[in-house]
Amino acid sequence: MAKKDLDWSNLGFGYMKTDKRYVSYFKDGAWDEGALVEDDTITMSECAGVLQYAQTIFEGLKAYTTEDGRIVTFRPDMNAERMINSAKRMEMPPFPKERFIDAVEQTVRANADWVPPYGSGATLYIRPYMFGQNPVIGVKPADEYQFRTFVTPVGPYFKGGAKPITIKVSDFDRAAPRGTGNIKAGLNYAMSLHAIVTAHAEGFDENVYLDPGTRTKIEETGGANVLFVDQDGNIVTPKSDSILPSITRRSLVAVAKDYLGLTVTEREVYLDEIGKFAECGLCGTAAVISPVGCINDHGKEIVFSAGREEMGPVTKKLYDTLTGIQMGHLPDKEGWVHEIC
Ligand SMILES: *Cc1c(COP(=O)(O)O)cnc(C)c1O
Repeated sequence: MAKKDLDWSNLGFGYMKTDKRYVSYFKDGAWDEGALVEDDTITMSECAGVLQYAQTIFEGLKAYTTEDGRIVTFRPDMNAERMINSAKRMEMPPFPKERFIDAVEQTVRANADWVPPYGSGATLYIRPYMFGQNPVIGVKPADEYQFRTFVTPVGPYFKGGAKPITIKVSDFDRAAPRGTGNIKAGLNYAMSLHAIVTAHAEGFDENVYLDPGTRTKIEETGGANVLFVDQDGNIVTPKSDSILPSITRRSLVAVAKDYLGLTVTEREVYLDEIGKFAECGLCGTAAVISPVGCINDHGKEIVFSAGREEMGPVTKKLYDTLTGIQMGHLPDKEGWVHEIC
């Protein structure tokens, strides 16, 4: 066992095959005991449910090395619970919470040499996922499934500082009213690809989506929740049934209240009021918070004055506090940091 010889600080966000992955099969109404395997490929029927009708869900979290050399992850119980909710909505058999955490631990331990060292800024991205495997041609849920978890090292999200990004108000929707926007299903991403390619071609970093029912309220971006800071330094987050409940956003809200004493309001946020906010950030596992400097609404630039050139002061405080808890520099009052080895 020795750390892999990688240029940790210069890794991008891409897939790299690591040593072991975890697999469990669901058949005849039950999950098998699961195992770590070396084979990174999957063979299945050409008519597998996932291939024909996109019956697949996933999670994303990361493992990293703390200053005192422990390998930890962050709130894996929340990912386990969210995946159970995703499975129920997709008529898939939920993978039990304790087993999800065990699968994450086993996979990270078996690939400990791939966990980036402390201080590199890099992390080990963990991808649990599940899909319908047996042949399905008439539209119905599959009877057989695989739950798998693989890991891949990824580089620091912010190379050379967190530059605020510019995002556009999309003309496409990422979710339907009463649809699947609140679960982590591959189908939500499939339908966002055209919108992402379009936004990039127009020179924007990302899309922000409006509520699909009325198209007057802010929802979220393709892969991150939105958080605003008002002129008094308090937090406002959009409320909607079609937003994916980000674990990072929920943790930042707790940090804002319990560590920083800020007021947090979760409410409907209208597109025509966001010009009043001082800062805007995108919350997700990959970046924790990525500052937004400007939202472009069909040529009209909505600029966040306190965060236009660099991460705004409140966004920075939130970022520093949550990453401080994650890295073990600040007290972990809630027991969020989960030690693996
Ligand atoms: C995964 C995801 C997020 C971020 O969730 P985290 O749990 O914070 O990583 C936000 N929005 C969407 C649509 C997502 O799929």
